[in-house]
Amino acid sequence: MARDPRYDVLFEPVKIGPVTAPNRFYQVPHASGMTNALPRVRAAFREAKAEGGWGVICTGACSIDPSSDDAPLPFASLWDDNDIRAHALMTDAVHRHGSLAGVELWHGGASVMNRASRLPPLSPSGIPWMATHVGFMGNLRPKTMDRADLKDVLAWQAEGARKARTAGFDIVYVYAGMGYLGYEFLLPEYNQRTDEYGGSIENRVRFVRELIDVTKDAVGKDCGVALRISLEELRGRPGIHAESEAHEVIALLADVPDLFDVKMDSSPTDCSASRFTGEGSHEPVIDFVKKLTEKPVVGVGRFTSPDAMVSQIRRGVLDLIGGARPSIADPFLPRKIAEGRLEEIRECIGCNICISSWHDGVPVRCTQNPTAGEEWRRGWHPERVEQAERPERVLVVGAGPAGLECALTLGRGGHEVTLAEAGRTLGGRLAFETRLPGLSAWGRVVDYRRGRLEAMDNVSIYLESALGVDDILDLAPDHVVVATGARWTPMLYSAMEIPVGRLDHPNVFTPDDIAAGRLPDGPTLVFDFDNYYMGGVLTEHLAAQGLAVSYATPAGQASAWTIMTNELPLVHRALSRRKVAVTTLHILADFDGETATLKHLFTGEETRISCRAVLIVGLRLPRSELFDALTARAADVAAAGIRSVERIGDTLAPGAIAHAVHSGHRLARTLGAAAPDRLYRRDAPIVEVEPGFVARIAAE
Ligand code: ADP
Ligand code: SF4
Repeated sequence: MARDPRYDVLFEPVKIGPVTAPNRFYQVPHASGMTNALPRVRAAFREAKAEGGWGVICTGACSIDPSSDDAPLPFASLWDDNDIRAHALMTDAVHRHGSLAGVELWHGGASVMNRASRLPPLSPSGIPWMATHVGFMGNLRPKTMDRADLKDVLAWQAEGARKARTAGFDIVYVYAGMGYLGYEFLLPEYNQRTDEYGGSIENRVRFVRELIDVTKDAVGKDCGVALRISLEELRGRPGIHAESEAHEVIALLADVPDLFDVKMDSSPTDCSASRFTGEGSHEPVIDFVKKLTEKPVVGVGRFTSPDAMVSQIRRGVLDLIGGARPSIADPFLPRKIAEGRLEEIRECIGCNICISSWHDGVPVRCTQNPTAGEEWRRGWHPERVEQAERPERVLVVGAGPAGLECALTLGRGGHEVTLAEAGRTLGGRLAFETRLPGLSAWGRVVDYRRGRLEAMDNVSIYLESALGVDDILDLAPDHVVVATGARWTPMLYSAMEIPVGRLDHPNVFTPDDIAAGRLPDGPTLVFDFDNYYMGGVLTEHLAAQGLAVSYATPAGQASAWTIMTNELPLVHRALSRRKVAVTTLHILADFDGETATLKHLFTGEETRISCRAVLIVGLRLPRSELFDALTARAADVAAAGIRSVERIGDTLAPGAIAHAVHSGHRLARTLGAAAPDRLYRRDAPIVEVEPGFVARIAAE
C-alpha cells in the first residue's frame, strides 16, 4: 500500500549541523544492556532499526573516561582503540541502510559508584546521589571537582568525541540529564560552588556550554553535536529573566549545539510505564524549547501513532520524533508507516520489561518483540521468519501470549496452524489483566497478534474449544504445542523465603478467583510475594470496587520487583492515593475468617489485622494437566502420527508475559529442527584492532 500523504512530513530530511537525517524518525540513545563486550549483538540490534527505517540510530550511554563507571550496570565506553572498533561495527551496520549513527558520550558524575575502576566519582560539590530505594546503592561519596578535574573532563569529552568520529559516528552528544555530571552542574542542590561555575544560572550553565564548545571544536565540522538535557526540575523553578530556569538554560544555549534532545529527569518519569502515563507525556515540560531556538529539537513520548507524531511536528513541539521503546517493540515502525501498513505496527505496550533488562545487566528483552537482542545471537529477524522446507500441521492449544506468538511465528514460517482456545476470547491471562487499573495498553499484545493471525490463510482459530487428549488424537496433527498457561496457588511463604504450605479457607482468594468474578465481600488483606505488578494492581482493583484493602509483603517495598521497571515509586503513590495501608517485611502466618496473623520476616514478632478475606498473590504453577496426559499416552500419540508434543510459556515455566512470548517464538523458530535450541552464539569483546580496519582520523 502507498503511504498516506498526511504522514509525508515524517519523511522529510532534517539538518543537524553538518549532517542530515534522512527522515524525522530518531532512535534516541537508550540503554540496551549491550556493552562493548557484546559488539556484534549491539551492532545487529541497532542495524535492525536502521533497516526498519529509523533515520538516526544512537547508542546508549558511552563513558568517556574510567572515572565514569556504572558497574555492575551495563555501560559502553570509548576509551581505546578496541572500543573504537567495537562501535565501528555498529556505525557500519547503521550506515549500510543510509541512516545516521549517534553516540551519547557520558560522564555519570556523582551518580556512579566506580565499582570497577575504584576511582573517586566526580561531582560539582561532593554531593552524593543516595537513592535509598534502589538496589544499587553505594557507599563511596564523590570528590568535589577542582579546576584540574574540570579541565580533565573537558579534555576527555573532546577526546571521546574524536574517538567517536573515528568510529564513524555522525552525531556526538553532550549529556546534561538524568542526574549525570552535566545535569549536576545545572541544579543548585548538587552545585554549591562559589566559583564561576556555581550560583547564578549563567554560571551553572557554564560547564555544559564548555562541554559543547570542546565537542564542537573537536568534531563540529564533521559531526552534528547534540545536547541531551533534562528539563523537568528546571521547568518547575521560576527564573529571574524568564518563566522558568528551564527557559533560561535553553535561551542561554539556544545557538550552541546543533540539536536539542530534551527529556525528563529520572527514569520513572522519563520512561514511565503505561500503567501510569500515556503517550506524549513529556510535552508539558518540553513544549517551549522550539520557541527559544532555531536548532532542531527531538523528544520522546512512547509515540507509536503516526497521527500523534505528525501532531507534534505540526504544533511545533518537536522536529524529530524520538523513539526508544517504540523502536524496540517495532524496529520497522517507520517502514510500516512509509508503506501504508499501519495495522502491522507492533505497538509498545509500555510495560518497561526492556528497562528491567538493563537493571538485570543483560541484553534488552521486549514483551512485544521477542527478537530484540536476539538478532545476532539467534539470527532472529524482527520481520522475517525462515520458511519451513516442509510445512507441517501444528496444533497450538491455548491462545495466551505464548500460544498467540507461537501460532503467529509458525504461520509466518508457512506451517498449517490450528489455534484452539478454551475461552471466548483470545489473550489468555491478558483477557482479564487488561481490565485492571492502568493495564489496558497491554491489550496491544493480543490486538497485534490477532490482526496478523486473522490475515493468514494458513492459520485457523477456534474459540470455546477446550481440548482434551482424545480431541487431539482425533485431530492428529504433526505437532502439538501446549500453551495452557498457569494458575495461582494459595501457598504461603516461610521465614526461609520460599513458598511453603497452603492456606485453605473459603475466604482465601487467588488472582484466578478475582479473574473469574469471585470477589471478597469485606475488608481484604492482599498478601503479595509474587512482587511484580499483580499484587499491587489487584489491590488497586479491589479498592476501586469500594473494598477496604490493606497490603502486606515479605519484601521491603510494595511490588518490590517493579523497581526494575521504573514503576515502584508510582505503585506506592497509587496505593497511598487509594488509602491502602502497606506492611512490608511480614509474612502471612494464619487467617481464621476474621483476623489475619502476620509475622515479621526477621524477628518473628506477630501483628494481627482484622479482615474478612485474604487474597494471596504468590506462587504460580503450570496448568500442565493436558501436557501430562498427552505424555502419559505416548503410545496413542505416536499411533496418531503426532511426532512431537511440546509445551511453552507459563505451562513450561510461569513468568512475565515477555517470557511467554519469547518461549512461543523460540519454539516456532526451531520446530522440528535437529539442533538443540538452547544454544545461542556467544559474543566476545574485541581485544585488538583487527587487520584491515582503517581508522578514519579526521583533522584536528
Ligand atoms: P501463557 O502466558 O503461557 O500464554 P495464559 O494463561 O495467558 O498462558 O494462556 C493460556 C490459555 O490456554 C488460556 O486462554 C486458557 O483458556 C487456554 N487453555 C487452557 N487449557 C486449555 C485447553 N485444554 N484447551 C484449549 N485452551 C486451553
Ligand atoms: Fe515497550 Fe514493553 Fe517492549 Fe519495552 S518491553 S519496548 S515497554 S513493549
